[in-house]
Amino acid sequence: MRIDCHVHLSGFTPGHGALSPRLLRSPQFRFLRWKFGIGEVGSQAELDLERLLISQLDSTPEIDAAVVLAFDAVYDKSGTRLDADTHFFVENDYVMEIAARNRKVLFGVSVHPYRRDAIAELERCVNRGAVLVKWLPITQGIDPSDRRCFEFYEALAHHKIPLLSHTGGEMMLPNVNQCADPVLLLPALRRGVTVIAAHCGTRSSPFGNDYVRQFVKMAIEHERFYGDTAALNLPARWHAYGSIFDDQRVMAKVVHGSDWAVMPIPPVARLGLSRSVQLMEEENWLRRDVLIKQAIGFDEAYWNRCATLLRITVPEHGHVAPHA
Ligand SMILES: [Zn+2]
Repeated sequence: MRIDCHVHLSGFTPGHGALSPRLLRSPQFRFLRWKFGIGEVGSQAELDLERLLISQLDSTPEIDAAVVLAFDAVYDKSGTRLDADTHFFVENDYVMEIAARNRKVLFGVSVHPYRRDAIAELERCVNRGAVLVKWLPITQGIDPSDRRCFEFYEALAHHKIPLLSHTGGEMMLPNVNQCADPVLLLPALRRGVTVIAAHCGTRSSPFGNDYVRQFVKMAIEHERFYGDTAALNLPARWHAYGSIFDDQRVMAKVVHGSDWAVMPIPPVARLGLSRSVQLMEEENWLRRDVLIKQAIGFDEAYWNRCATLLRITVPEHGHVAPHA
């Protein structure tokens, strides 16, 4: 069972999600809209984006399922939601609906740990099939080492739900704190949570802060600490492949993630120019990301590791499902 653990969708209507005017105006978002032929943001654009993802998933035979990620709002330390600071928001219920109507979609929930109803919301979503919790601490305003998170970690450990937490840099969304270091996730590990450090601690720009060394150390030292390969096919993050392939102990702790709809660019220095050009010809970005990682040489265990972590089983016919 091969799972992509890191896929994004956007909601553009009340009850589904929102992008801030600032994000809608950003060159990255304009490029995606143009590339995918998405019209004015609204319910039609939502449907078009969902259809595009599902068609790319269906034409990626190497992948059996993808975890689509909800995205919670920014909250302050008192548990008050900060709408003015929230630039990207995807409702848990929207992703839940999409997972219910698409066989290959798994539900990735996002719950800000400072919310007063954080544990209730986590449990509501776990009962509806959530397979992991996604955080982006530097843009959602979370300090994973803050004691406000500890009770949430205990709930995650109790329900055996892994935490997929962004580490390293983030360019697309405005940063509200500096909590990018994987070491901040130690309190989650100490409470028995399985943690997947998204992006393996890589920087998001050539001169940004990079935490791959810290990621490597923690992956070796902590049994429950993993990393995903989301967006590693971006030039600023390519160097992580060196750290992964240099050490079998690190290789054994990495799971597959694309960060769709991020455009994958092959690491030219590893694959050579002609191979890279050939890979760029794959128009389906979800599949291009897979083909690049196959070309780099990820082993069979890598492709299957996520299903083990998420305890996913697949019946002969029908929905992939979280383990009862
Ligand atoms: Zn992401």
